[in-house]
Amino acid sequence: MNPIRFATPPRHEAAEALRHDVRAFLHDRLAHVPPIRRADSWTGVDKDFTRAMGARGWLGMTWPRCYGGHERSAFERYVVMEETLAAGAPVGAHWIGDRQSGPTLLKFGTEAQRRAVLPRIAAGQAMFCIGMSEPDSGSDLAATRTSARRTAQGWRINGTKVWTTGAHQSDYMILFCRTSGTPADRHAGTSQLLIDLHATPGIAIRPIIDLAGQHHFNEVHFDDALAPLDALIGQEGDGWNQVMSELAFERSGPERFLSSMQLIVELIAVLGKGHGDLTRAAIGRLSAHLIILRRRSRGVAAMLDAGENPALHAAIVKDLGAVFEQSVPDIARGLIDAEPDLAARADYNAVLAKIVMNAPSWSLRGGTREILRGIIARGLGVRG
Ligand SMILES: Cc1cc2nc3c(=O)[nH]c(=O)nc-3n(C[C@H](O)[C@H](O)[C@H](O)COP(=O)(O)OP(=O)(O)OC[C@H]3O[C@@H](n4cnc5c(N)ncnc54)[C@H](O)[C@@H]3O)c2cc1C
Repeated sequence: MNPIRFATPPRHEAAEALRHDVRAFLHDRLAHVPPIRRADSWTGVDKDFTRAMGARGWLGMTWPRCYGGHERSAFERYVVMEETLAAGAPVGAHWIGDRQSGPTLLKFGTEAQRRAVLPRIAAGQAMFCIGMSEPDSGSDLAATRTSARRTAQGWRINGTKVWTTGAHQSDYMILFCRTSGTPADRHAGTSQLLIDLHATPGIAIRPIIDLAGQHHFNEVHFDDALAPLDALIGQEGDGWNQVMSELAFERSGPERFLSSMQLIVELIAVLGKGHGDLTRAAIGRLSAHLIILRRRSRGVAAMLDAGENPALHAAIVKDLGAVFEQSVPDIARGLIDAEPDLAARADYNAVLAKIVMNAPSWSLRGGTREILRGIIARGLGVRG
């Protein structure tokens, strides 16, 4: 078996100095946001908040200045992400662009795409969605059916994407599709296109309402949609390698273990002081898990900073992070006998309901538990 080691993340003085500024900003900005909305951090879309983040230089932080970035370290970006998520800030209008679409364009996009789009993401003015999953192709992404055919007028696109978070509010999608061959060709013949959702005729976006009654998912239908030929990202037919690199960005950060943070905050507030040994042990164990996950996740930031590929390490953090996030509601219910109720006046009960209804999805999004464990097994050398 191959051992998998995580680098010990160094203390980063500039990042710690930045933490103070980010906390002060969030303290003011979120002063009147109730816990139930803070529990929505991921799906909370507040374009004013996102523009304010951009104005402070807290989006596109590691990108070159010529593309609107700020040439800061992965550790500084990490601090901004963990502070915003821990505070329950509405990151929905920028996290996809900042975390994965922007880095994908930086790595594979044409110079024209980088110059046109990256400064807008960094300013908090362009929201992105991810066009990967399809009705018959989720884990098995290589079975993608959505096709884009090269014509004299541009790419003719037909097919359906599903579970597309935020498509109805987004400006752009990075579309994973087939530009030649058939689904039987698997990885060969796939490409990525940059789709301007406002300027592409033939796209219909339909809502999917989730278990908690929220609209953040969508179905996106392409019916002879026409995108310009220069929408191609990177090399035609190299979509599989590109999309795997994009997924490594998607799986690496603190967002993979902070989804139930608001419940931890409310739980500790309700428990107060003076509880018995069992309660103290449960909170101590939660804190210890959180600290270890954070250390591992910062190890991934160290790899990103050193220009290394963190795909395997990111899969480990995401899998362990989902186990942790999903365990929090059960631990909370073991400590406090309270009914989860979205409409409850008590913050704890309402946040508990929100987290209970959202938690099942955390081991699906960005790659399911089984798929991640397959990647980890391969990294350990125990699977061919
Ligand atoms: C909150 C959330 C947000 C999402 N946002 C987006 C988005 O913005 N854009 C987007 O494109 N997609 C998005 N998705 C979709 C997500 O990527 C898919 O749900 C996921 O990849 C699984 O695909 P599927 O739903 O088709 O399930 P399937 O692939 O059908 O899997 C069903 C079950 O079978 C298991 N399974 C499948 N293949 C194997 C295998 N080879 N070995 C062992 N077990 C296997 C899976 O682990 C799972 O338990 C989102 C999903 C969620 C929950």
